[in-house]
Amino acid sequence: MSEIFAIQALPRPTVAVAGTTARFPVHRIYCVGRNYAEHALEMGTPIEREAPVFFMKPADAVVADGAQVPYPPATSNLHHEVELVIALAQGGRDIDPGQARELVFGYAVGIDLTRRDLQAAAKAKSLPWDTAKGFDLSAPISAIHRVAAVGHPASGPLTLAVNGQLRQSTDIREMIFDVPSILHELSKLFELRAGDLVFTGTPAGVAALVAGDRVSARFADFATLDITIA
Ligand code: MN
Repeated sequence: MSEIFAIQALPRPTVAVAGTTARFPVHRIYCVGRNYAEHALEMGTPIEREAPVFFMKPADAVVADGAQVPYPPATSNLHHEVELVIALAQGGRDIDPGQARELVFGYAVGIDLTRRDLQAAAKAKSLPWDTAKGFDLSAPISAIHRVAAVGHPASGPLTLAVNGQLRQSTDIREMIFDVPSILHELSKLFELRAGDLVFTGTPAGVAALVAGDRVSARFADFATLDITIA
């Protein structure tokens, strides 16, 4: 028997999957903070290796490759953060690092759009980051590339260019917490589920975007994301 809803039921957010017309249904979007040493330094924060910093974005913050993203309200300092994104086919609690890769459906490149001015104000007052990180359209993401096609990359270039100028460039080998460690730590705090996305943190070089900017994010030789700030 199908459910009847008392108000309009919005469609489930989805992401494209490379090589197929089937869509990836998004359950939650988790994000890792301070996962590259040079970025932690540029943000003036010490690196804590004991446990990663986690925060979330709403599932419907996803934005597809090729989109025009309106400059968001309530900020005058919108920053780009290019990140490797993990897409989960299965979940669980207390996931063993040695088994974590078995849960992964695929990998994408994403941009953790950030209202840096609101984040700085929140940090100064020890307040949460939600308005700085979890706003509408704050999670542009490429098509997801299936493990069956690309395997589990442990290295590979992660870059972001604005109007053709390179701004961020690293190799994911530089991550403080790698993919198995992130899933292990995250699953101590939340029950991971099929459809979860995990943004794995950004390298140094974060900077402001303005209306008209063409932003190009790349991971390895397969994941491409191009958006324009409108
Ligand atoms: Mn980030």
